[in-house]
Amino acid sequence: MTLAVTLLGTGSPLPAPDRAGPATLISAGEGADAEHHLVDAGRGVLMRLAALGLGAPNLTAVWITHLHSDHITDLNDVITTRWVMTFTETPLTIVGPVGTRQVVDHILASLDPDVGYRLAHHDDLDHRPPVTVIEVERGEVHLPDGQGGAVTITCEQTDHKPVDPSVGYRFDHDGASVVVAGDTVPCTGLDALCTGANALVHTTIRKDIIANVPFQRMVDTLDYHSSPEEAGATAARAEVDTLILTHYVPPIPQSGTADDWRALAATEFDGTIEVGDDLHRVEITPR
Ligand SMILES: [Zn+2]
Ligand SMILES: [Zn+2]
Repeated sequence: MTLAVTLLGTGSPLPAPDRAGPATLISAGEGADAEHHLVDAGRGVLMRLAALGLGAPNLTAVWITHLHSDHITDLNDVITTRWVMTFTETPLTIVGPVGTRQVVDHILASLDPDVGYRLAHHDDLDHRPPVTVIEVERGEVHLPDGQGGAVTITCEQTDHKPVDPSVGYRFDHDGASVVVAGDTVPCTGLDALCTGANALVHTTIRKDIIANVPFQRMVDTLDYHSSPEEAGATAARAEVDTLILTHYVPPIPQSGTADDWRALAATEFDGTIEVGDDLHRVEITPR
């Protein structure tokens, strides 16, 4: 049984032609029995899933780290496509920090005309999108009966203030484990989540570059993200084997090569450092 990370989208709010918005897929197991956990649903997420031969119906659950627009842009697409492309009622569970229910309620409200059109047009479609929201703060998360089960998922508060609350998730499967941090500065919640894990997926921004951008709105982002060096320090404190960087701001290659990013993280962390394009896949192995 394998646990694998696929970087579906390595972009950020800044549109880039070849980087989808923030989204990471955690897959456990192989073939039809595999579980696929989607963490965040940024711009283009279903296009990237399609490249893997997967779609919204294959998702075990969706895990939202925080409610910044770039991380939830295409949540509406996941909801609609799941609903339209399944032929029996297939609930979609969306897990996120407090506030997620209100956002999902508003998304569903915005989809109301579309839902009405399709219900009226398709005789065999007799239910609205079946979405369940679970709001979490910390601890183990239990999905509804019949969903998941092969992966143990826990969450902790992260620190992306003033975006609050925000959470990170840890996925444990068959002795292997990976943490998906989301956007955060180094913090005790993330340290706790990472302790004993094999791998850490961390969003990062090149603070050395952003600090010199002549727009205050960009400079403002310095205080609630981690640099590759800070992500490296978090990985080193937790003694994980592998650090996977994503959410490259500015995008690679304008912000340097993958090797440049890796070198910055390596100033703090001497384990394996993965920097990749969309669809970059990393298998997580137990120690
Ligand atoms: Zn954010
Ligand atoms: Zn972000």
